[in-house]
Amino acid sequence: MTRKAVYLDHNASAPLLPAARDALIAALDLVGNPSSVHGHGRALRAIVDKARAQVAELAGAEREQVVFTSSATEAITQAITAGAAGLGVDAIVVSAGEHAAVLKAAEATGLPVRKVGLDADGVIRVDEIAAAVFEASAAGVKLLVAVHLVNNETGVIQPVDQIEVLVGPTPHYLFVDAVQGFGKLALDFGGRAPDMVAVSAHKIGGPIGVGALLMKNHISNVRLIPGGGQEAGRRGGTEPAALIASFGAAAAAFPTAYYTAATHKLVEAIESGMRSVAPDLVIFGAGVDRIGNTSNFAVPGLNSAVAMMGLDLGGLAVSSGSACSSGKVGASHVLAAMGVLSALGEAALRVSFGWSSTRDDAEAFLKGFSEIVSRHRARHGVAA
Ligand code: PLP
Repeated sequence: MTRKAVYLDHNASAPLLPAARDALIAALDLVGNPSSVHGHGRALRAIVDKARAQVAELAGAEREQVVFTSSATEAITQAITAGAAGLGVDAIVVSAGEHAAVLKAAEATGLPVRKVGLDADGVIRVDEIAAAVFEASAAGVKLLVAVHLVNNETGVIQPVDQIEVLVGPTPHYLFVDAVQGFGKLALDFGGRAPDMVAVSAHKIGGPIGVGALLMKNHISNVRLIPGGGQEAGRRGGTEPAALIASFGAAAAAFPTAYYTAATHKLVEAIESGMRSVAPDLVIFGAGVDRIGNTSNFAVPGLNSAVAMMGLDLGGLAVSSGSACSSGKVGASHVLAAMGVLSALGEAALRVSFGWSSTRDDAEAFLKGFSEIVSRHRARHGVAA
């Protein structure tokens, strides 16, 4: 019997919002290059400008601060790798819980990289950032501090406000990977300390293949792709107007309230349901503030790859650890940084709800989860 497919992996990529789909299709029919001065070009330029305003609005930024890129990974690489060179930075500070895009970009600078830890709940150790900033200031070393707003695996909301207070008044720079918090948490890029922020369209119901780097007005000379001077000289390459239009439409239509209310209830429902089926369930980051759509958990002894495949056969798409590198199910560096033993880390699964998620999805997941746990117990002779 084929069951209805249930998509529970919004943190990996959210389905296209209907408004984003409409905008994409409408713009695909237009001909031309947004940089051309004739009517066709001007029509595309208007579309790009509208989307820029829509993305800026959701980020609390000015429209001139939005630089469209091909992905958040590109925006992150621009901010860190090109940023380190263009801003004359001497060393990088990252947290151990950063996405690979941040860790690899930091490594690619060739500069010393200091990795600050996470606590047992997955929260960035602000005291370690304070120490790094203090020591660098005393030594006359200029830092680029790169942290994330929300962890893609655990959903833990990071104390970026506190980090801003530490880095903001210093000569050091702050970059925030806001990919998993954009739209879901209130952002006020204009009034806040980060010098640069990266966001991605496909995490908010926009298309894959477009992201943005928000750059404060004082940030100049941070360029990864010089090209033909597009994006006010900050990112070369003809702007993909249809993808950008769709990104803008997603930003304008993004149902922020659904994430603070509805998906939060779905997370509560599956977590209490799972606990009654598996009392030994471990929920990562359970003791701290998490974004309202993510649950990362493990049943000790139940291997995540096996569980994920079982759920997949039942039509339930969940993720094991971070799903960012295609099909790769590896140990999570985030859980390791939280001090989670590798045997438990290998049992970690992530469910992430989003704008299309319903109560039925949560119920279907709980049914699939109970079946997997019963099968596991039967196979290992554990009493229910
Ligand atoms: N940063 C975080 C926290 C992410 O979760 C992801 C994707 O999963 C990225 C960066 C990369 O985003 P993109 O797929 O737009 O390159």
